[in-house]
Amino acid sequence: MKDGTDGVQLLDVYDLLPFDNIDGGAWKQGFEIRYHGNEWDEQPLELFLVPHSHNDPGWVKTFDGYYQDQTKHILNNMLVKLSQDSRRKMIWAEISYFSKWWNDIDEQKRAMVKRLLGAGQLELVTGGWVMADEANSHYFAMLDQLIEGHQWIQKHLGVKPRSGWAIDPFGHSPSMTYLLKGAGLSNIVIQRVHYAVKKHFAQQQTLEFLWRQSWDPSPRSDIMCHMMPFYSYDVPHTCGPNPAVCCQFDFHRLTGGRVFCPWRIPPQPITEQNIEERAQLLLDQYRQKSRLFRSSVLLVPLGDDFRFTESSEWDAQFSNYQKLFDYFDQHPELHIKARFGTLSDYFEALHRHLTAAETTLPTLRGDFFTYADRDDHYWSGYFTSRPFYKRLDRMLEATLRATEILFSLTLAEMRRVRGDGHLVADFPARKHFQLLKAGRRNLALFQHHDAIAGTARDPVVVDYGTRLFHSMLNLRQVLQSSAHWLLLLDKRHYHHDQSNPFLEMDDTISAQDSLPQKTLLMLGDEPRSLIIFNPTEQQRSSVISVVIDHPDATVVDAEMGQPVAAQDPSRASTDAFQLSFVAELPPLSLVIYYVTKASVGSAHRAQYTVHRQGNPPTVHAEHLQVTHLQGPESNAPLSLSNKHIQMWSSPETGLLQKLRLQSGLVRQVQVQFLWYRTRAGMNQDKSGAYLFLPGEEGAQLYSYSEPPLIRVSRGPIFSDITSCFRHFTHTVRLYHLDGHAGKSLEISNMVDIRSEINHELVMRLVSDVANGNRFYSDLNGFQMQQRRTLPKLPLQANFYPMSSASFLQDSMSRLSLLSAQSQAVAALRPGELEVVLDRRLQQDDNRGLGQGITDNKLTASLYHLLLEDRRGGAQGMGGASVEHLSLLAHMTSLFLSHLPITMVAPASSQVPKLRPFLPLSSSLPCDVHLLNLRTLEDSQEAESPSQEVALLLHRKGFDCSSAPEPAPPCTWSTQEEVNLDDLFSPLQFRSVRHSGLTLLREDDEPESAQQQQLPHIAHLRPMEISAFRVEID
Ligand SMILES: [Zn+2]
Repeated sequence: MKDGTDGVQLLDVYDLLPFDNIDGGAWKQGFEIRYHGNEWDEQPLELFLVPHSHNDPGWVKTFDGYYQDQTKHILNNMLVKLSQDSRRKMIWAEISYFSKWWNDIDEQKRAMVKRLLGAGQLELVTGGWVMADEANSHYFAMLDQLIEGHQWIQKHLGVKPRSGWAIDPFGHSPSMTYLLKGAGLSNIVIQRVHYAVKKHFAQQQTLEFLWRQSWDPSPRSDIMCHMMPFYSYDVPHTCGPNPAVCCQFDFHRLTGGRVFCPWRIPPQPITEQNIEERAQLLLDQYRQKSRLFRSSVLLVPLGDDFRFTESSEWDAQFSNYQKLFDYFDQHPELHIKARFGTLSDYFEALHRHLTAAETTLPTLRGDFFTYADRDDHYWSGYFTSRPFYKRLDRMLEATLRATEILFSLTLAEMRRVRGDGHLVADFPARKHFQLLKAGRRNLALFQHHDAIAGTARDPVVVDYGTRLFHSMLNLRQVLQSSAHWLLLLDKRHYHHDQSNPFLEMDDTISAQDSLPQKTLLMLGDEPRSLIIFNPTEQQRSSVISVVIDHPDATVVDAEMGQPVAAQDPSRASTDAFQLSFVAELPPLSLVIYYVTKASVGSAHRAQYTVHRQGNPPTVHAEHLQVTHLQGPESNAPLSLSNKHIQMWSSPETGLLQKLRLQSGLVRQVQVQFLWYRTRAGMNQDKSGAYLFLPGEEGAQLYSYSEPPLIRVSRGPIFSDITSCFRHFTHTVRLYHLDGHAGKSLEISNMVDIRSEINHELVMRLVSDVANGNRFYSDLNGFQMQQRRTLPKLPLQANFYPMSSASFLQDSMSRLSLLSAQSQAVAALRPGELEVVLDRRLQQDDNRGLGQGITDNKLTASLYHLLLEDRRGGAQGMGGASVEHLSLLAHMTSLFLSHLPITMVAPASSQVPKLRPFLPLSSSLPCDVHLLNLRTLEDSQEAESPSQEVALLLHRKGFDCSSAPEPAPPCTWSTQEEVNLDDLFSPLQFRSVRHSGLTLLREDDEPESAQQQQLPHIAHLRPMEISAFRVEID
C-alpha cells in the first residue's frame, strides 16, 4: 500500500536527516525565514491568539497544592475576565482540575461557565482527566482517563470536545490520536517533537498534517494535527521564530513582575506612542511564522505553566493585545486580521481555507519518539524513571479492569435474579460505585505526564503512590464483595460487613511503596476454600501459588471433587510453605478450590539443586530435597525443558544462554546484566529524571566479587532457575503446562540499587537473531512500531518506550519480550535487546524538577520471553513494514498483564454453600479482547450506577507468518461481523448501541427497533476498538 506522493513516513525522515544541530541564528534550532511582504495581499493573514494555562495535576507541588495556590484562582479569574469582554477567549485541558473547581463554585458561577462555553469564549480541549503521558501509559488507562473526563463534561456541561491539546507530554504517540479520533475529536496540537524533525517539517511546510495510523490503509483514523514549530509552548517560543522579540509580547513579564525576559529586552506596555513600532515588530514575527505553514491562517498560543493566576496578568495580556489587534484592524494595508481565539476557532478557519483552496494536508505515519529538546538531550530516561510506580500503575490498572467487569456482571446478575430490575438491598452498590469511580480517577490522575513518567518531586510521588495504594485496597473491597454475592448458592445469605469481609485477598499490600506479600493460609482439619477469578475472556490453565502453614497439602477442584496437580510445598520461611497447583479457569469465571492438610511426605516435592561456584552454600533443608553440585557436574550448563522448549543456562551465573524449540529451531539467547553510569565531567550535563546521558564508556557488564547463589528447582508443574546477585534476583521459569503457558519462559527480576548513585541497571538479551538494525516495540500496548537503530544518533536516542512488547526477527525466527510494566528498550547491536530496570540519579537534569531521583525501592519486573518459528515477510505500508504480535504473543501478553486473582474464604465449616460463577459458555475469539465492561453513572441519581454499561472490545491485529503449529486452541472469526449475543452467551443484551470511544450520547447510533431485537451484530475491524452502550439482561 503506497501513500500519495505527499505521504510522510517518519522512519524515512529519520534515515534522511543529518541531525547536525546547526546554529540557525535567532531561531537557534531552525533557519532564517524570509518573506517579501506581498504574500498576504490576496489572502490576509488570519491570526488566532489562543490564551491557555498549562496546569500540571502534580509535579513540583501536589495536585491539591497547585489547586489551592494557583488553579482555583486561574479559573475564578477566568470567569470574571472573560465575562467582561466577549472578544476574550480561553482554552482549558485538565478536567481533573476543572471538575474539582466545579465542586467549589456556586450555581451562579456554574451558569456563567455554561454561558461562556455556549458563546465559544471558553473551550474545553481534549477533555481528558489529565494531559496524559504518551510513552508509558497503557491504552486502557489512556482511554479510561479520556472516558472519565468526557463523561464528566457530558454530565455537567453538555458540550463535546472537538480539538486536542497535548503541549507537554514528552513525545507523541499515534495511539493517543487513535483514541481521540474515536472519541469524536477532529484536530490536535502537539509540541514536544525532536527539534531536528520540527526544522525539517518547517522546511517542507508539513507542520500540519493528517496523522494516520501505521496499520490503517484507510483515512478513517486520520486526525488533523498541528505541530508547534519552536522550542517551547511559552510566549517567547510561540509568536514567531525570535524568542527575544516574542518575549517582549508576554505582558506578564512587564518590568516589576516576578518573571522577566532572559533575552534582556523587557516588554513595554502598548501606548499610542509605541504602538506602530510594536505592531510592526510583532507582525514581522507572525509573518515569519506563517511562512512555515501552507495556509494563511496562523495559530499563536498565549500562555505558559499556571498562567493567568492573578487578575493583573489577565488585564496586562488582554488589554495590550486588544490594542494591537485594534491597530491591525485600523491598518488594512498590513493585511492581517488578528483576534483571540479558541483552538476550534483556529481549526475551523483552517478547514475553510483548505476547502476553499481545494487542497488537503499531507498524511503522516509514525510516532514522535524519542524526543530531544536541544543538543543530545534525549528524553529517554523517563521511560524508566520510578519503575516501582510504573509497575504499581499496571497492577492497579489490572485490578480496576477486573473490578469493573465483575461489578458490572454482579449488578446484571442481581437484576436477573430478582427479576424486577432492582438491586439487592444489602449489597452496597452505590458505595461500591463510588469506590470504583475514585479508583478510575486515581488511575487517571497517574496518567499525567509528570506522574507515570516518574518526573515529579519526591513528596508528589508519595501523594500519587498513596492514591494508587488506597485505590488498590478499595477496589479489592468491591471485588471481594461482588465475588461474595455471585458465589452464594442461596443469595439470602449475603450480608455485607466491611469490617469483616467474607472473602479476603491471598496477599496484602502494607504501604504505598511496598510490594504485595502473600498471607499465610492456616490449614486446620477442615478444607480451606480458595476462590479464583479469571479476569480474561479466555479459558486458561494457570499456576496458582499460595503460602500455607503445613509442609504437605492436597488441592481439590470443588466442582469435580478431583485432586489437581500440585507442587512442593517449597519453603517460604521456617513455618510457611509455598503450595502451587494448576487451576483450570473458564473465561471471566469465579471458581472454587479446596486446600486440605495432608500427611507429611505425601505431596509431590520439587527437587532442588543449590550451588555457587567456588563457595558452596549451606542450606537448611528439613522439608526439601536438596542436592549440591560438585566436581565436573558443577561446570555443565544447567538445563530445563518441557514438551515445547529446552533451555540452557550458565552454571556460573544461572543466566539463560540458549533456547531450542520442539520444531528444532535453536537460538542463542544470553541474558546479561549491565550498568550504565552517567557523564563524569564537571561541566557535563548528567542523567536525571527526564534525560538519559550515559557515560562515554557505554554499558559495563555487571561484575561481582563472589559468584551468585543459584537455585534450580524441578517440579511437575514448573521448573525454574533463580540467581541471587547483590543488586538483583533473577528467575527464569518454565511451566510444564499444555497450551500457551508452556510455550514461553517467564522472567522475573527483583531489583534493589539503593546502594548505588548515578547507576542504571539493564537486562540485555544477546541473541543470534539476524535482525540487522531493526526491531519493534509497542506503543501503549496498542500497536507495534518499527524502530531503526541509527549509529548517527547518540546511544540515548536509540532508546524507546516499551509498554508491553518488543521483538527482534529474521526470516526464520522471532524473539519477543513481553512485559508487564513500562520501561525503556533498545536494540543497540544486531541480535540484542535491552530493557532499563531501574535508575538512581543524584542530580537534577535542568528541566524544572529541581532534584535527582533517589527514592528507589525494591522493585519487581515481570516478562515472558517467546521464541517463535517464522516464515514469510512483513507487510509493507506507507514506507515501513507493519508488524503485529502473533496470536500466541497476544495471548501470552494478556495472561501476563491480567493474572488470576485469588481470594480466601473463612475456615469455618459454617460457611454457606458456594458455587462457581461461569458467565460465559466459551472463550471469546482469541483476537477479540474485552477491554472493559464499565458501569456508567446514573444520569438522574449522582454517584450511583446506572443500568447502562460501556462494552469496550478491541480486535487485535495479529501476525500470521508466525502462526503456531498447531493453531492455538481457540477460534477466531475471519468476518468483521460478529454476533455479540453469541460471543457473550449466555449473557443477553437488552439493547446495544454503537457509540464513540468515550460513550458520549451524541455519538450513539440512533435508536432503532433492531437494537431491541436479536441478533446484535457488530462490526469489529482488526486493530480497532469498538464501544457499545449496552444493558445486560
Ligand atoms: Zn506539564
